[in-house]
Amino acid sequence: MHRARKRFGQNFLQDDGIIYSIVSLIQPSAGMHVIEIGPGLGALTRPLLRNLDQLDLLEIDRDLVAYWNQQNLQGLKVIEGDALQFDFLAWAKNPEGRTGLCKVVGNLPYNISSPLLFHLVGAAKEIDEQVFMLQAEVVERMVAAAGSSDFSRLSVMLQARYDMEQVLEVPPEAFDPQPKVNSAVVRMIPRQDFNLNDAQWSALEKVVAAAFSQRRKMLRTNLQAFADRIQLTETELKARAQDISVDRYMEWARILAA
Ligand code: SAM
Repeated sequence: MHRARKRFGQNFLQDDGIIYSIVSLIQPSAGMHVIEIGPGLGALTRPLLRNLDQLDLLEIDRDLVAYWNQQNLQGLKVIEGDALQFDFLAWAKNPEGRTGLCKVVGNLPYNISSPLLFHLVGAAKEIDEQVFMLQAEVVERMVAAAGSSDFSRLSVMLQARYDMEQVLEVPPEAFDPQPKVNSAVVRMIPRQDFNLNDAQWSALEKVVAAAFSQRRKMLRTNLQAFADRIQLTETELKARAQDISVDRYMEWARILAA
């Protein structure tokens, strides 16, 4: 029997209704190119595999990797590794004969969710969809609109790259062991109209980090270092980072990278 490990963020899904809803959202079908991050004991893995020719698993816990290797299930490819180090771009570019949509899914370990989401941005151009269970508070920040108190660096960077929606709320009772927080499922689809090049993306990272560095301060202060290159309007000078739209941040990134 596997004992849940806190350091790997192991909270195993138990609720059949929620499992069914998540699998329906993923819409697994033959030929689809799918990787599940953190299969754990297989709450999502088994129902997904029933509808796929092949499912790739990425798991950091050696005991769980051994467990999955012993199962000897047809179509399952088990990769032992840390999702934060894994090359999702190379994986996405090599579908091994699968011709369907390319999806990254999972009930993510909450302790690494933000760095993992940022890491995955590097593969977004090759991925069709991501469906993740995360801490509800993180999902709220991901989808928050400009002007709301949840609007943050995570909101701007991810909304610049993905269309996102919260699709399900999940209470702690759906897991064993139960997490202390509420969870939510988010669907992320890379934006079709995304057109920032690498230099512009890194300018976006810098200007957004500076803008949110001191949340309560006005942009006049936080963006002082950029003042010679981007023209802030009178209103923007007195605004705070959370009041600026994603489009406006992207406009600044283009100017800064020019
Ligand atoms: N999918 C299972 C479920 O829904 O019951 C387990 C979800 S549990 C919240 C997170 C899973 O991610 C665990 O299996 C854990 O071992 C794995 N994990 C934690 N950190 C990881 C990492 N850095 N890379 C890959 N897998 C990781």
